[in-house]
This record gives sequence, C-alpha cells and structure tokens, in this order.
Amino acid sequence: MSATTVTYQCPNCGAGLMFDPEKQVFKCEFCLSEFTESELEQTDAHQNAVNAQAQADEFCGHMNTYMCPSCGAEVIADENTAADFCYYCHNPIVLSGRLTGEIQPTKIIPFKYDKEAAKEKFLAFAKKKWFVPKDFTYPEQIEKISGVYFPFWVTDVDTDSQINARGIKVRTWTSGNYHYTEESIFSVFRRGNIHFEDIVNSALTDVDKKMVEGVLPYPPEAHQDFSMAYLSGFTAKKRNIEREALTDSVRERIDRYSETLLKSTAPGYTSLNVTDRNVQVKKSHWDYSLMPIWILTYKNKKGKVYTYAMNGHTGKVYGELPISKWKLTLGAIIASLLLAPIIALIIAGVAIL
Ligand SMILES: [Zn+2]
Ligand SMILES: [Zn+2]
Repeated sequence: MSATTVTYQCPNCGAGLMFDPEKQVFKCEFCLSEFTESELEQTDAHQNAVNAQAQADEFCGHMNTYMCPSCGAEVIADENTAADFCYYCHNPIVLSGRLTGEIQPTKIIPFKYDKEAAKEKFLAFAKKKWFVPKDFTYPEQIEKISGVYFPFWVTDVDTDSQINARGIKVRTWTSGNYHYTEESIFSVFRRGNIHFEDIVNSALTDVDKKMVEGVLPYPPEAHQDFSMAYLSGFTAKKRNIEREALTDSVRERIDRYSETLLKSTAPGYTSLNVTDRNVQVKKSHWDYSLMPIWILTYKNKKGKVYTYAMNGHTGKVYGELPISKWKLTLGAIIASLLLAPIIALIIAGVAIL
C-alpha cells in the first residue's frame, strides 16, 4: 500500500480515499465521490493529511514493536513498557524495532480492572469448573494474564436513505358457495435521514475473532480521547486491517439497515418487496480505537491453546476450558456409584411389587 492511499480523507464524508491509478483520481467507495489531486489540494483534505501524518510520526516515535518468534503474534508497547513474553503462547518475545507507518488511535477505552482484579475474576470463574486440569489455576499460570489493547474501527454515519417497494395486501372471505380472494397492490415510497452510531469492526484478521466477539460489546460512552498515558504498562495488538478495506462491508451494513428500518415504517402488508434502494452517505466519522481485554491462555500437553478473555471495561468473560480427562473419568465413576444404589432400589422396588 502506498503512502498516499492511507492519508487522504474524503472531503465529503470523511471516509478513507483510495487512489485509482487507471483514472488518476482518488475515489471514495463509501459515498461514491471522486476527486483529482488538485481538487483535494483546494480542500482541507491536504492539510488534514499533513496533520495526521505528523501525529502518526509522533505516535510511532514512542512505540516499539515486538514479535513472537514462536507463534508470530505482533504487539506494540510504549517505550517505557517492557514486553517480555507473548500473551498468547507465553514464549519470550523479541523487540523488532520502532513502529512505522501506523496511524495514531483517536479513541481508547482504558482498562478499568487491574491485574489483581483480573486474576481474582479468573479464579472465581475457573474454580467453579471442577473438570479443568489442576495446573490451569496454578499461580505461575495465572501470573501470565496480560492486559492487551485490541484495535477496532468505529464508524458513525449520516445518510439520506430511500426505498421504493411493492406492497401487497391479500384479503380472503367466503360468501355462500364462493370463496373470494382480493389482492391489492401498492406502490410504497419511504425516505428518511438515518444516523448510525458506533458501527464496530475489528481491525484484525480472523485470528482472535471468536474471542473478541465473545467479550463485546463495549459501552460507547466509555470511549476517551486517545492519550499515550493509557498505554503505559500494557501492550496493544498491532492493527492489520486498514479502514479502506472495511468501506465495502460498512457500506453494505448501512444499506441493509436502512432498508430494514424504512421497511419497518410501512407495516400492514402481506408482502413488501423493495424494488429500488438509494442510500446516500452525507457524512461519516471513523475512529481508530483501542479496547481493553485481559487474556490468559492455557496450553495443554498436546499443545492445544485455550483462551480465557475478559472485557477490561465491563468484565464480560469469554472462556474456552480445557478438560482434564482424569477428572472427567473420576466424575463419571462417582456419578455411577451414586446412581447404582438408586437403580438397585428401583429394581428392589419392582421385585417387592
Ligand atoms: Zn466520501
Ligand atoms: Zn507467541
């Protein structure tokens, strides 16, 4: 990706612009506008791009990147925070240099629970599960719990949306020997200004998708303006999805939501089929935001990794649990011992009858 594609924002709606080399224009795939380089220079877009670049350089200048040689996980941490082991596989990680080419987050949800509180919550969660292996809750294992900020794109959009639809109302009745069916066809038109708030997308490819979705949502009001201070003592997962890559999917979502919302304002039809839909994006705002997760992974003897994660703001837990076969067998034996006398009693009862 060349530098120009990431820096310009659409003067019309605020989404990221993509350069089309064939037509030599910058395209907004979100509101469907096109701009030439000289058109952009006449707007604030050029100055905004320069400012964003300066902020990004400042941010990158204070951030180190770390890479795990065993599993490939990449995290970033501020220069005062030593990241020594991989939150995922617990192996030592290596410093791979200064962060480059990353834009600065605009928002962050700070951690609300400290490590001690996170450990306590984990223990309370794990202790109720009698079938987990003993070493799952060893102190040296729990000590590995890590506070990691995960990157997200959060989008607000204002649209002017409209639909044309064909509505059908069917009425049936019987009179004497005749059965009547009346079908009335309506041309339905709906139009409205719709504001979409906080459309959240992970800025990471699928690796931790299930886990991340498991601890969502974060309350929108928990967002703070980004400050480096919040990162101190924590690592952050390095983003690998740019917002330009998300415009299509966000666009699709707002098209779909618009249609559903507008359709819901036209009740009473037996069927309502949309024949034409037009969603115009008037304005959009994209925040690159970091959200907090406490993570503890456990590797069983066969090397399978189990992830326990806790939303660092709400405390919502996502947990995959390892099962101790030994404990499970023991549990089955105890259960069968408890059941055996009951079965014996029932048989005895039958015999007495
Ligand atoms: Zn646009
Ligand atoms: Zn690792």
